[in-house]
Amino acid sequence: MNFVISSHMKKIQMVDLNGQYEDIKDVVNNSVLNVIESTTFINGPEVHSFQSALENYLGVKHVIPCANGTDALQITMMGLGLKSGDEVITADFTFAATVEVIALLQLTPVLVDVNPDDFNINIGAIKKAITPKTKAIVPVHLFGQCADMDAIMEIAKAHNLYVIEDNAQAIGATYTSKNGTKTKAGVISQIGSTSFFPSKNLGCYGDGGAIFTNNDDLAHTIRGIVNHGMYKRYHHDVVGVNSRLDSIQAAVLNAKLPRLDAYCNARREAANKYDEAFKGQEKIITPFRSGSDNNHVFHQYTLKVNGVDRDALAQHLNDNGIPCGVYYPIPLHSQKAYQDSRYDEADFPVTNQLVKEVISLPMHTELDDEQIAFISSTIIDFING
Ligand SMILES: *Cc1c(COP(=O)(O)O)cnc(C)c1O
Repeated sequence: MNFVISSHMKKIQMVDLNGQYEDIKDVVNNSVLNVIESTTFINGPEVHSFQSALENYLGVKHVIPCANGTDALQITMMGLGLKSGDEVITADFTFAATVEVIALLQLTPVLVDVNPDDFNINIGAIKKAITPKTKAIVPVHLFGQCADMDAIMEIAKAHNLYVIEDNAQAIGATYTSKNGTKTKAGVISQIGSTSFFPSKNLGCYGDGGAIFTNNDDLAHTIRGIVNHGMYKRYHHDVVGVNSRLDSIQAAVLNAKLPRLDAYCNARREAANKYDEAFKGQEKIITPFRSGSDNNHVFHQYTLKVNGVDRDALAQHLNDNGIPCGVYYPIPLHSQKAYQDSRYDEADFPVTNQLVKEVISLPMHTELDDEQIAFISSTIIDFING
């Protein structure tokens, strides 16, 4: 490629939070200041307005804000009344939060392999893992792309299981089911959760999370759990936790939620430009897209490299001022905390391979053409050089 990289190219970042802030600075500054001046730091009006705005956006009856995405997952499992010894099936190739809360609640995590193309939980592997003790499946919509929810919901129905969507990476994605129904990711099953960690697609300026459900009883139970198990002040009916979204974080999210669709589009456009730049490169496998166009919101743009030393490529990118990430370098079933004698390496061929081949490139809403050209040509030159 013959791109001339100008000396004033913006510094490339994995996630450009500052560039995004510039655009919403006035709104954010005003609303955060407003919280400080009103001193309604906990459960202020911003939390309530964000909650209804998000219910509206997702088309779901109840959004219950909480302190972070990990809490959100834990609280969903508490709300469903899962008990010690219940088996919960989730993906081997994901962030540890999912398996961590299963283990913390003394449920039994059952890790299963993923698909080689979209990196999401594998349907055959789920079926194989079901036992009489299985109570729930937790699909993670990994890197911003929805898992095969039609198939997962079918299995759940047949075996009477809960499905908990870990939507920390795919907020804003729209899932189109076989019958043509369009549903926002996170509200396809009975219950879902998300994270507003700063680098997520809808990120606040600290920690935050939320739980989604259309079920009134479950929503009621969960609203108590997030607040010390209280349904009436100082009456503790169930064991709860303290997990709240700060008013200041809600103020930031109120400024960003109206822009979420534009943010998702910006990410998809950047992904399309990367795809275009890597066309014809046999050693580079660009992200597979399942389903319709808006099924993927590119939380990460993750390549697989074939016949290339992935770690040497990552080093080369870093040497050229290009940040990159390996999500995830170790399968969860091989992590010290989550090893289990029941696991058989032969059941994880895909994850075991992916951890050696994946590399995630800078992906955010402010990525420009010059940066994408520089990143892609640096990769292509290294691979063919
Ligand atoms: C980020 C993330 C979480 C945890 O969210 P926190 O807000 O950091 O606790 C859980 N699951 C997945 C898939 C994530 O990417």
